[in-house]
Amino acid sequence: MHQNHYDIIIVGQGISGTVLSSTLMEQHQKVLVIDDGNKKAASKIASGVINPVTGRRIVKTWQIDDVMPAAVRIYKALENKLYTKIIQQCNIVNFHASEQMQKAFEDRIAEDPTYLSTSPLQDTIAAAFEASFGYTVIDPCWLVHLENVLTAWRQYLIEKNALLEDVFDFKKLNITTDQIVYDNYTAQQIIFCEGAKGQENPYFKQLPFAPNKGEALLVKINDLDNRYIYKKAVSIVPWKDSIFWVGSNYEWDNYNDDPSPSFKEKTMAALNEWLKVPYKVVDHIAAIRPANTERRPFVGMHPFYKNIGIFNGMGTKGCSLAPFFAEQFTSHILQQTAIDIEASIDRFNILATK
Ligand SMILES: Cc1cc2nc3c(=O)[nH]c(=O)nc-3n(C[C@H](O)[C@H](O)[C@H](O)COP(=O)(O)OP(=O)(O)OC[C@H]3O[C@@H](n4cnc5c(N)ncnc54)[C@H](O)[C@@H]3O)c2cc1C
Repeated sequence: MHQNHYDIIIVGQGISGTVLSSTLMEQHQKVLVIDDGNKKAASKIASGVINPVTGRRIVKTWQIDDVMPAAVRIYKALENKLYTKIIQQCNIVNFHASEQMQKAFEDRIAEDPTYLSTSPLQDTIAAAFEASFGYTVIDPCWLVHLENVLTAWRQYLIEKNALLEDVFDFKKLNITTDQIVYDNYTAQQIIFCEGAKGQENPYFKQLPFAPNKGEALLVKINDLDNRYIYKKAVSIVPWKDSIFWVGSNYEWDNYNDDPSPSFKEKTMAALNEWLKVPYKVVDHIAAIRPANTERRPFVGMHPFYKNIGIFNGMGTKGCSLAPFFAEQFTSHILQQTAIDIEASIDRFNILATK
C-alpha cells in the first residue's frame, strides 16, 4: 500500500475527531487527522462536565443511561493508552436558587432518586457559599480533562505519523466513486469533525446548524474544595489546582468568538452574590458551540457522496455524546450496523434532494 494512502481521513481534532479517530484506530484503521490547531475551538474552551440531569423538572438528559457509561469506559481506556488523567468523578453541588427549585428537587427525589442525593456537605464547602435554599448533589457526574486528552492524543497521532497540521482546503479535495484524493494523500473515506466550521462545509452546510457562543472566566479561588463542581446561576468547575472555570452563557445572534465585557460583568455579579470567599479573575475565554436546531448529533455518510461523512452537531454535550456515537459510527463504517435514528443524518431529506 502506498505510504500516503489511508483508510480514513478525519478533518478536525476537537473531542469529536479525537474519539472518532481513536475508535477507528482501535479497529486497525489507518487514519490521517487534519487539524489547524485553532486555540479557540469549543473543545479547548469547554469545562468538560458530564451532567446526567437537566432543566427545571430535573429530567435525565437524552440517552444518558447509555452515553455516560460509554464515555467513562472510552475515556478510561484512553487514559491507560496515553498515560494521562482524562476523566474523574466530580459530583455537582447544585445550589437551589429559590424555594420553588428546592421543592422541585425534593419532589424529584421522592419520585425517582436516580442521579440525585442529599448527602450533607462538609462545613468548609457550606462556609464558602451563600446557600439560603439548600442544595442537592447530582451523583455521579464526571469531569473530562479536555486539555489532557486533546494534547496527549495529538502527540500520539504525531508519533504514529497520523497528523497533518494544516487548514483543510476544499479546493485540494477530489472525490471519485472509489477514492478520496486530498493533496498528496488518498483515502477510502473522509469524515468531517469540524465543529462550528461545519456550517461552511460545501457537502453538509444544508444541515440545520445553529451555533452559539459561550464564555467562561478562569478564576483563582484558594479556599474552595476542587473535588466538586458548584452550580447555581453559573457553574464553578475545577480547572487546574486552585483555578476554577466559571460559566457560561448562550448567545445566538450577532456574535464573534471574542470574550465580551458584559459576560464578565454579569458573571462577577453572580459570584459576588453567591461566593463568600475571595476570588481573582485570571483569564476570560470564549468559543462557538457546534449546536443545531434539533439538539441531536449529525452522524453518518452523505446520501450521494457515499465516501464523505460527518460527525458533528454535539452542541453543549460533546464530552458525553462523542464517545458513544464514535463507537456507533465506527461500527457503522466497518460493519454497516445502524446509527441511532435520532442522530443519523439519514433523517434529513434535504441532503438526499441535493
Ligand atoms: C463555554 C463552553 C462550555 C462548554 N461546556 C461543556 C461541558 O461542560 N461539557 C460538554 O460536554 N460540552 C461542553 N461544551 C460543548 C463542547 O465544547 C462541544 O460539544 C464540543 O467541544 C464539540 O467538539 P467538536 O470536536 O465537535 O468541535 P470543536 O471542538 O470545535 O473541534 C473542531 C476542530 O476542527 C478543527 N477544524 C475546523 N475546521 C477546520 C479546517 N478547515 N481545517 C483544519 N481543522 C479544522 C478546529 O480547529 C477544531 O480543532 C461547551 C462549550 C462552550 C463554548
